[in-house]
Parts: sequence; structure tokens; C-alpha cells
Amino acid sequence: MSLREKLKALEELQQIDLDVTGVRGEAEGIPVRRAEIDAVLAVAKKAYEAEKSRIEDNERERRQIESLLGMERDKVKKWESRLGDIKTPREYAALSREIDIARKTNDSQSEQLRQLASAAIEMRRVLDASADALSEKEMAAKEELDALSRREADFATRLRELDVRRGEAARKVDPALLGRYENIKRRRAGIAVCPVVGNTCRGCNRNIPPQLSLVLRRADSVESCPNCNRIIYSAEAVNPPAATG
Ligand SMILES: [Zn+2]
Repeated sequence: MSLREKLKALEELQQIDLDVTGVRGEAEGIPVRRAEIDAVLAVAKKAYEAEKSRIEDNERERRQIESLLGMERDKVKKWESRLGDIKTPREYAALSREIDIARKTNDSQSEQLRQLASAAIEMRRVLDASADALSEKEMAAKEELDALSRREADFATRLRELDVRRGEAARKVDPALLGRYENIKRRRAGIAVCPVVGNTCRGCNRNIPPQLSLVLRRADSVESCPNCNRIIYSAEAVNPPAATG
């Protein structure tokens, strides 16, 4: 394998590694987005549960008042029937007063019952709206979660393909050069090898000495950028423009 071909393989390796980083970066966003969706759903669910428990409290309170009111009304009826049997005006007045007080209490209890019932109508309306909002959010969430799963599967497929291509490219580079590549990649933000276009290193965007440019054009040695230490190659020499005409 000529050095030119090795440099070409190195260039390919670099592109594959950048693609892998890009795909991994995008894939990292998926669990983050999933957590956001779950959080939105949890809020909607909580709002629904809160409305539901308000209406349950209201119903419980109404049942209690109703059962109490039933007993109190029976009591008043009993007292009223007893009025006819009373012999002394004093006792009659006393029982009448009791009946009066009990009736007033019952009236205010049944007024409270009416208020609770009318509050329940509004609560039911809010509950229905929040159930609608919840199911709407659940549907949207399901749709987005399904799309995220598809994207995740797509990323996994792309990473497997890149891994295969990487193996092929790496096999074309000898182990020493591959080691050097990996080493520089770790220290130079993932970019270990870059083309020189004109006299400019594309890794650091600074010019290299003109003599080095001439050496690169021969493409028969591995050279480093004097500024950023990345492996450099002449874009023209490694990828000569296709002959035209
Ligand atoms: Zn450079």
C-alpha cells in the first residue's frame, strides 16, 4: 500500500470518526428529550389527579351532609308529631323552639348542599377539560416517543455501518500510524489529520512553510503541521481532481 493510499485511508478514517461523533451527539439528545416528554406528561397527570380528588372530596362531603340531613329531618318529623300530645304550653313552646332551631340548621345544611352541588358542576367541567388535555398530551407524547425510537434505531444502524467502514479504513493504515492518529485525535479535539489547501492547514487555519507544501505534494512521507501538530496532507496530491475532457 503506497503512502498516498495510507494518507487517503487516514483521511477517510478521520471523516468516519467525525461522523461517529456527530451521530453519537445527536443520539445523546434522545434520552434528554424523553425525560422532557415524561415531565410534561407528569405535570398534566398531576393536574388531572388534583381535579379528580377535588371532586371526590366534594362528593364525599355531600354524602355526609345528605345522610346527616336525612337523620335530622326524621328527628324534626318525630318532634312535630309529638307536638299534638304535649299537654303544657311550656313544654309545647320548648319543643317548638327546638324544632325551629333544628329546621334552621337543616335549611343551612341543605343550602350548603346546593352550593357544593353547583361547585361540583364547575369541577366536573374543569376535570373534563383536564382529561382532554391529558389525553391530547399522551397522544402527542406517544407519537414523539415512537419517532424518537425510530431515530434511535436509525442512529444504531448508522453507527454499525460506520463501525464496519472504520474497520476497513483502519486496516489500510499501519499500526504505528494508526496509533499516532489516535493519540493526536485525543489531544486535538477529535481532529488528528487534515488537508492543507494552498499553504493553509485546515486544522488550525494557519499557513505552513512553502517548502513543507512542496514536500506534501509528493505525498511520500507523513508530515505534521508545525503549528497544531496534526498529520497533514496535500488535498490535491491525495485526492487529485479527476481528469476532465
Ligand atoms: Zn495546523
